[in-house]
Amino acid sequence: MSALEQNIEKLQGYLARFKETGIRNRVAGQDRGGNGGVFQTISPVDKSVICDVARGDASDVDAAAMAAAEAFPAWRDMPALKRKKILLRVADGIEARAEEIALCECWDTGQTLRFMSKAALRGAENFRYFADQVVQARDGQHLQSPTLMNITTRGPIGPVGVITPWNTPFMLSTWKIAPALAAGCTVVHKPAEDSPLSARLLVEIAEEAGLPPGVLNTVNGYGHDAGKRLTEHPAIKAIAFVGESRTGSMITKQGADTLKRMHLELGGKNPVIVFDDADLDRALDAVIFMIYSINGERCTSSSRLLVQDTIREEFEAKLVERVNNIKVGHPLDPATEIGPLVTEEHYNKVTSYFDIAKEDGATIAAGGVKVGDEGFFIRPTLFTNASNKMRIAQEEIFGPVLTSIAFTTEVEALEMANDTQYGLTGYVWTNDLTRALRFTNKLEAGMIWVNSENVRHLPTPFGGVKASGIGRDGGDWSFEFYMEQKHIGFATGQHKIMRLGA
Ligand code: NAD
Repeated sequence: MSALEQNIEKLQGYLARFKETGIRNRVAGQDRGGNGGVFQTISPVDKSVICDVARGDASDVDAAAMAAAEAFPAWRDMPALKRKKILLRVADGIEARAEEIALCECWDTGQTLRFMSKAALRGAENFRYFADQVVQARDGQHLQSPTLMNITTRGPIGPVGVITPWNTPFMLSTWKIAPALAAGCTVVHKPAEDSPLSARLLVEIAEEAGLPPGVLNTVNGYGHDAGKRLTEHPAIKAIAFVGESRTGSMITKQGADTLKRMHLELGGKNPVIVFDDADLDRALDAVIFMIYSINGERCTSSSRLLVQDTIREEFEAKLVERVNNIKVGHPLDPATEIGPLVTEEHYNKVTSYFDIAKEDGATIAAGGVKVGDEGFFIRPTLFTNASNKMRIAQEEIFGPVLTSIAFTTEVEALEMANDTQYGLTGYVWTNDLTRALRFTNKLEAGMIWVNSENVRHLPTPFGGVKASGIGRDGGDWSFEFYMEQKHIGFATGQHKIMRLGA
């Protein structure tokens, strides 16, 4: 049996229970149908129905928010070491079921096993990393003044909502849920309607690890009803959101009446700038990796290549050769590099840019075609002869599609890099240290890598500027979001108090 056949057989085993019972919501440690009925989740590999999913509506979100509110005091007050142990057991549980998570995620989203097997393990790492900080998360400062001993302390903000997208959904949800739980918050998770499988696995693993009922609740459903209610619910104190910029703007409005704290991780149209003095072989590898890995459905993807005109021809020629060599195929085949796009709607959106590129006068140098009609497969695509004003350079396509634009001077490269509504990541390739310092100083992005692809280090801040988001995750920044600072001042003597009406 080939590796692909073996993986398909294992997947069938994992899916059997979902096919039988569908995916139910999980509220206060109990399975719960959706008051909105059911919807179906479809595999982008062959358009088959995977299973029914309970469609939560506002009343289901109300029940989950109430469960999270009831579970909050006990979870907040649980001794830190006990909470830490539970979170470490969640990490162990994820590792133990990493294969199941990865196979289900691939089938649900079209992501390839080569990347999802790592993403599942990264989910465990997220839990382990934040579990290790539980004990000191509430520590504060001592700020002495002449008349007062001031201390600060931090406490969890309360029940929070976590709303996640369909790209690498398991890893992304742990990136939010792990620090929220470590901070002492309880959570209502609304996963993306297009990728509900792995969210169900996460809540099961968490409860098996000893997470008390109601501490993590999962309500499936659509953004416009379940998601909307979560952002409006008065018991929910903050929303951690990952998704599109226009959705981020919508939920900010929805949360206004209840003064919700919002953390928004949104879209990007990230530039990779390659100067002619760079190590061009490494730059080529990184450029290809950062747009064609994870099906290009990656917020940090470098979807705009700004390449110096002195090397453009040679660099693009090498790029075309490599892009044409990328293996598109079944996501469970270990050799596959790109799988199908997540949904028909997304496939239609991404492929519409093939015509838009032509209309705008760019050249399709590689790809630009659909692959078969069994699933939502396309060839990885490269647009050349583009300008930064074109739609293919300004809009987030969110697929394996790269737009290459030539520049002459450093000033011009910087202008183009910043000429976008987004500001999530930037990648700079040069061996001139002074230029790298100068350039990164002016580049409008929340995260920049010099002579490197995106390599995450969990203690570093993750987030974007401009339309790419508000707020940061990672290290203590995550705790700042899920916790409230409190100041307490103790008088150290009989300082003079101003007497009015005396
Ligand atoms: P999306 O905005 O369509 O949906 C994200 C989530 O929001 C889903 O769960 C959806 O149901 C929910 N939602 C939609 N409307 C809502 C509403 N009115 N109220 C409450 N919830 C609502 O995004 P998507 O298409 O699932 O994901 C792709 C996007 O996510 C891309 O733009 C990508 O760049 C972005 N993303 C950003 C990051 C980051 O860290 N910056 C990471 C991954 C993905």
